[in-house]
Amino acid sequence: MKLQSIRGMNDLLPDQSPTWQYLERVIGDVLARYSYREIRFPILEQTELFKRSIGEVTDIVEKEMYSFEDRNGDSLSLRPEGTASCVRACNQNGLLHNQIQRLWYTGPMFRHERPQKGRLRQFHQVGVEAFGLNGPDIDAELLLITARLWQALKIDQAVTLQINSLGTSADRKRYRTALVDYLSARHDQLDEDSQRRLHSNPMRILDSKNANTQALLNHAPVLQDYIDSESKEHFLQLRTMLDAAGVSYEINPRLVRGLDYYSKTVFEWVTSSLGAQGTVCAGGRYDGLVEQLGGKPCPGVGFAMGMERLVLLLDELGVVPDSVGQTVDLYLVAVGDVDSQALVLGENLRTHCPNLRLQTNCGGGSFKSQMKKADKSGASIALILGEDEAEKNTVGVKFLRQDRPQETVDQDQLANLILTLTTD
Ligand code: ATP
Ligand code: MG
Repeated sequence: MKLQSIRGMNDLLPDQSPTWQYLERVIGDVLARYSYREIRFPILEQTELFKRSIGEVTDIVEKEMYSFEDRNGDSLSLRPEGTASCVRACNQNGLLHNQIQRLWYTGPMFRHERPQKGRLRQFHQVGVEAFGLNGPDIDAELLLITARLWQALKIDQAVTLQINSLGTSADRKRYRTALVDYLSARHDQLDEDSQRRLHSNPMRILDSKNANTQALLNHAPVLQDYIDSESKEHFLQLRTMLDAAGVSYEINPRLVRGLDYYSKTVFEWVTSSLGAQGTVCAGGRYDGLVEQLGGKPCPGVGFAMGMERLVLLLDELGVVPDSVGQTVDLYLVAVGDVDSQALVLGENLRTHCPNLRLQTNCGGGSFKSQMKKADKSGASIALILGEDEAEKNTVGVKFLRQDRPQETVDQDQLANLILTLTTD
């Protein structure tokens, strides 16, 4: 039997990792500019954590979690998302009471879904959470962060922001009853999935991709008519701030999100460039969650970005800078009995040129085959050390991507030359 990875859990190969590192670097830089700090927490948690936060009747907890009993008989789950764990970690370490926290995290998440483009069983998120702030200003800040990030990544023309307000959980309960009444009377016209959800998670029906169901919803009760005046005011202020900052958005009254814990603001950044899996970033306010997980009441708001989908979008739009894929500046060709001199020369260069990325030819080979490797490496310069050069303490400098004659330089002078060549 061939050993294979688990379906929907991909390897990240060396040709792909530069794009990921670039994306992570840009995200990290933007978050630092807003003074968000990183938090790390385990990938495994008690299953109970996710049941109590995400909700027992959500798709995630009902059918998507990787849960198992460990050797002690405790039920554990691989995290399907980060917010619950983040809140758990903050509660446990006393980070929230009477404090404001601006945090981010990154890592793999696990959901047993049907693998397809942009949908995996192990996928990666960067999540951002802000705690201790009630007002719409922090909701707006989070959206400004994302807007700035899309600009930095040059994907801002390809994504649009959708926002909605869910009101309080009491509002949602009243609305849910009205929605269930309306849809129950039209039960036979609903698609199968929606029929199943009617009593477990009826709000999710608003999300249905089924055209008949969507048509049926055109005359259904509207959530906006049920939300309280405070939530309405919060939403209005958020819109005023987004308008003032020049962030465009659409109000999507059917945007409800799949998790139980949201209240007031919810939002998604969506693209039409990736087919069905078009949401690259999603989040909202969750003022009840901290208390629900055993902490003192503390408001929270956050979002998570799907890294695989962002990478797909970067590739699709061709906006990753060319330099990102380049990992070698200089290739050191070593022909003949010069191996130790080549290694020492390489070390000297690395000491004197700290940003230089130098690959030394290991394993010998003819001049011709080494030059082929030099070219393939993407290096802009090949350094050539043969027995002749070794004897005279010189080295050949050959320009691989420029029409410029080869030079011979003293090994003592090499670091200076390289510094001038690679800083312009
Ligand atoms: P979707 O509607 O696409 O299933 P979701 O509402 O389940 O998304 P969230 O739980 O809000 O997603 O997660 C935030 C982001 O993480 C999503 O917008 C998406 O970019 C990404 N994401 C979620 N599930 C997956 C998955 N199985 N594979 C890849 N990315 C995912
Ligand atoms: Mg989902």
